[in-house]
Amino acid sequence: MEFRDLKKQYEILKNTIDESIQSVIDSSKFINGPQIRQLEIKLAEYAGVKHCITCANGTDALSMMLASWGVTKGDAVFVPDFTFFATAEAVSSEGAVPVFVDVDDRTFNMDPIKLEQAIKEVLKEGILIPKAIIPVNLFGLPAPYDEINNIAEKHNLKVLEDSAQGFGGSIGDKKACSFGDAATTSFFPAKPLGCYGDGGAIFTDNDETDSYIRSIQAHGKGSYKYENIQIGRNSRLDTIQAAILLAKLQIFKDQELGKVKEIADTYAKLLDGYVITPHVPDSYQSSWAQYTIQLKNKKERDCLQQFLNSNKVPTMIYYPTPLHLQKAFEGNPLYQKCPVSEKLSNTVLSLPMHPYLDTESICFIANLIRNYLKSS
Ligand SMILES: *Cc1c(COP(=O)(O)O)cnc(C)c1O
Repeated sequence: MEFRDLKKQYEILKNTIDESIQSVIDSSKFINGPQIRQLEIKLAEYAGVKHCITCANGTDALSMMLASWGVTKGDAVFVPDFTFFATAEAVSSEGAVPVFVDVDDRTFNMDPIKLEQAIKEVLKEGILIPKAIIPVNLFGLPAPYDEINNIAEKHNLKVLEDSAQGFGGSIGDKKACSFGDAATTSFFPAKPLGCYGDGGAIFTDNDETDSYIRSIQAHGKGSYKYENIQIGRNSRLDTIQAAILLAKLQIFKDQELGKVKEIADTYAKLLDGYVITPHVPDSYQSSWAQYTIQLKNKKERDCLQQFLNSNKVPTMIYYPTPLHLQKAFEGNPLYQKCPVSEKLSNTVLSLPMHPYLDTESICFIANLIRNYLKSS
């Protein structure tokens, strides 16, 4: 059994993907081939946003967006304490300070009440200047943007939606990557929509942001490639990766999102009452990047993981360390305690989740968990 079965997906899409890759090789347009623009148009249309700019990875996407807002030394950017390292790393790499905000223990996402408290703490101290908030759509579930956007407006902060795990999710009829002033995603192979290497994208309705990002991602180019008007970097998506994503996008929209939702429902039905299953608020849809359950304590979680492992069921702990306890952030000012994030790092366990997980496997996994918890 695989934790995320990319081989099975390839078997099903083999002809389309192979043809798509071959067409890039036949054309030799490995950099900035026509597939790049085709993909950007389709992604923007799907997310319901004016501009999509593809780039090298989701981390670059975050830091380029922060740069476009002039986020720099002396600025505070609010990030959830419970997320993948890159969310906060992008803030530090621009010279700003990530301020860790505790999360909600049912959705795993940034807690708006704690967010406002953290903003007030930073303002009261008067050293850092609050500039932006990066809510993360953790494990595929959109963060509570109604509340977060209100707080942002009140304090005049930008909202950067980190949808690296969230592409395909929604709130009501609005799709992920359309909730903030700008959004980013990642096409790392194991993300909901993944390519066969690294890749990322930025989404925004703002025309100036679009031009700025297109310049700094290409060495700060001006009106043409060899006119350089500012210091930028090199951050492109390869044409082959765009071709692969084009081949995958249709089935992702038409089938895969529906399938992962069914799988999550089946897990929830079978595990309810045994463990805490993921909470999806009304009108929210997750893209189910992860299916993450909560156990009573670290011992129960670790023992269950070992038991599943001995039965050849792969599981992962996302994330074993809250950001504020990461060595890289030692000495970083902490404006609030993050007890929920600390608890979650000890109690969460992510189970196999992907569109090609069959019912038999789900029942096998759920039965192991039920039997283990009954007997322990
Ligand atoms: C994966 C991920 C990123 C970084 O994406 P890369 O493409 O790997 O650079 C950023 N934020 C979150 C929440 C992620 O899960």
